[in-house]
Amino acid sequence: MAVRLEIKGVSFSYGGIDALSDISFAVGDSELVTLVGPNGSGKSTLLRCIDKLLKPKMGIILIQGQDIAKMSLRELAQTIGYVPQSAVNTFPFTVFDVVLMGRKPYISWGVGKRDIELVSGILDFLGLSSMAGRYFNELSGGERQKVLIARALAQEPDLLLFDEPTSNLDIRHQLEVLDTVKALQGEKGVSVIMAMHDLNLASRFSDRVIMLNKGRIFATGTPEEVLIPENIREVYGVEVEVTHRDGGCPHILPLRAV
Ligand code: ADP
Ligand code: MG
Repeated sequence: MAVRLEIKGVSFSYGGIDALSDISFAVGDSELVTLVGPNGSGKSTLLRCIDKLLKPKMGIILIQGQDIAKMSLRELAQTIGYVPQSAVNTFPFTVFDVVLMGRKPYISWGVGKRDIELVSGILDFLGLSSMAGRYFNELSGGERQKVLIARALAQEPDLLLFDEPTSNLDIRHQLEVLDTVKALQGEKGVSVIMAMHDLNLASRFSDRVIMLNKGRIFATGTPEEVLIPENIREVYGVEVEVTHRDGGCPHILPLRAV
């Protein structure tokens, strides 16, 4: 598997507060990696460093072998799509226009036929065609989340970053959004990094899990390797039971705080 993203020795602090310390890992082509870890463990900070919204204090981030620090924002937006945590920003725009905004890094002289076709194709792919003319700020949380995914896709990125894509969604929409992410990975070969709280969803959808604790990588590996009672007790302070129904991915049942 070819390496798409490489992170080497990245550290970041907000003022004097260390949020990330010496983070190193790589993500392969078409791999889905999930960041888990308690509140404040650095998941969002790490995603924002990868999208160059924050500048690491130390370390280097390479996408397709290129140092992101040396890439223009336009180049970066053609390579990385970032879907921030919960869509509180209410655009007074139609769904079609919000998704079309994802084409901005490609548009020099106005919107072209290819931009329109691409956006229509993405809306179709995500099952959003019927709501293309509706206003973004009149949609439900799950619908908005899908529209923001569509906007990120319109950037035609090689890497998608999601910060808690399923927070505030009911269980049906959680599954729909994650099935969509999985389909992107499979059909379009996009690599994905997502931050997620729900360990069972992480277990079910991830190729690999990275568990952060206090800004450091505590464990990394397959869901089976990382989502074990010892790690969860140490990092979350919770006693859990882990079962494997029908030999499938680990299922985590929290028992009590320790
Ligand atoms: P997570 O996404 O895992 O909950 P964050 O990356 O948001 O964690 O936060 C990591 C650490 O950085 C926490 O200690 C948090 O309090 C701190 N932090 C996050 N954002 C800011 C900020 N804008 N200013 C100062 N400290 C911050
Ligand atoms: Mg966060």
